[in-house]
Amino acid sequence: MKIAVVGLGGTGSAALRFLACAGHQAIGYEQFRIGHENGSSHGESRIIRYTYPDLLYTQMMSDSYKLWFELEKEADEELFVRCGGLYFGDKTDEDVRITEQSLIDTNLPYDRLTAKQTQEKYPAFHLQSNEAAIYQKDSGFLRATRCVQANIRLAKTHGAIIHEETKVQGIYTKENKTFIQTSSGEEEYDRVIVTAGPWMSSLFKDLNLPLTPTRQQIVYLNINDHEEYFQANGTFPVWIDATENLYGFPSDGQIIGIKLAYHHCGEAIKDLDAERAPVDENYLDEIRRYAKKRFPNLGTDITYSQTCVYTNTPNHDFIIDQVPDQSNVFLVSGCSGHGFKFTVLLGKIISMLATDDNGYERDLTRFKINSFLKDSK
Ligand SMILES: Cc1cc2nc3c(=O)[nH]c(=O)nc-3n(C[C@H](O)[C@H](O)[C@H](O)COP(=O)(O)OP(=O)(O)OC[C@H]3O[C@@H](n4cnc5c(N)ncnc54)[C@H](O)[C@@H]3O)c2cc1C
Repeated sequence: MKIAVVGLGGTGSAALRFLACAGHQAIGYEQFRIGHENGSSHGESRIIRYTYPDLLYTQMMSDSYKLWFELEKEADEELFVRCGGLYFGDKTDEDVRITEQSLIDTNLPYDRLTAKQTQEKYPAFHLQSNEAAIYQKDSGFLRATRCVQANIRLAKTHGAIIHEETKVQGIYTKENKTFIQTSSGEEEYDRVIVTAGPWMSSLFKDLNLPLTPTRQQIVYLNINDHEEYFQANGTFPVWIDATENLYGFPSDGQIIGIKLAYHHCGEAIKDLDAERAPVDENYLDEIRRYAKKRFPNLGTDITYSQTCVYTNTPNHDFIIDQVPDQSNVFLVSGCSGHGFKFTVLLGKIISMLATDDNGYERDLTRFKINSFLKDSK
């Protein structure tokens, strides 16, 4: 089949690779250059983990991990750094409890640590006596930009064609034929997959997709002393503070310092194409305040900062579906700030759906567009 993929971030690049590998005529469109910094899939690190306060996501991660290992093997480069992960919070935090239960239900190994045990094992972390942590050894981080580039490189090796700096202006179906409109004209396709991230709503105005793109900020702080506490060799796991809603990484070996960020949604972005303001001063202060209490060996110097976009649905579930009234068009969006670890799986699922393969074993009903429309009533 001749299949277009619109939007080549994490999800689209993976979909393109799967289609090309399966022998389809796969053509990718990206409005910017591959690896650009205007969307969601760029940067040195994205957390990957089984630890989820939601059983279905933990189960889907078993599928996703396998696909990351395959990609890494095929690309023959390090994309995944397995440094372990801490998921912690107040002992009474519901998310910590449900996350532990999801690990039990899926028979995944983990350790439950008190504040004191956490600090003994990972001396950079200072937890309070009312807090507890779950340690899971398979967590770590994905080198996001490299993952996208690896997918694209392999897709090309398998025959995919890529149109960079080519914005798709419209997708429409006439007499059962589906067309893509760009500034060079229109092109007919058997199927179209749209993985346009935060720009999704502009391509499907009539669908009223429940998507809110938000401006997110990440910060790297310098290490004052005990550099050895902050390494990705097992001394410093990736971490999520479920109660205070922050997360962070060990030294990634590329950018000086330690990356940390708030997970809560930033302000809604009205114009995705407008230049984005740099990281706010008060955000930097909040990060410094948190770091002072949690990681006393960190300094207060900002060694790097960046903004990025989350594409949020109201309940943070993804949207994975065929487009109503356009049976040849399929979409994935709403990765809601936690989707990178799934992008390889989402690319696989959507390429299966678009090629009439209903073989994915898990029930994806809650990710259909209709589930969100019901929610909003
Ligand atoms: C700061 C930050 C931290 C995050 N941390 C984590 C984490 O630790 N772990 C995790 O799992 N997830 C994390 N995420 C979320 C994750 O990065 C995203 O969910 C994921 O990258 C979304 O990928 P995507 O392919 O759906 O969208 P995108 O990466 O935004 O890709 C969409 C692409 O479509 C292109 N496009 C759009 N419209 C058009 C058009 N009309 N024509 C052509 N091209 C078009 C865009 O230019 C873009 O390249 C984080 C996100 C941010 C912003």
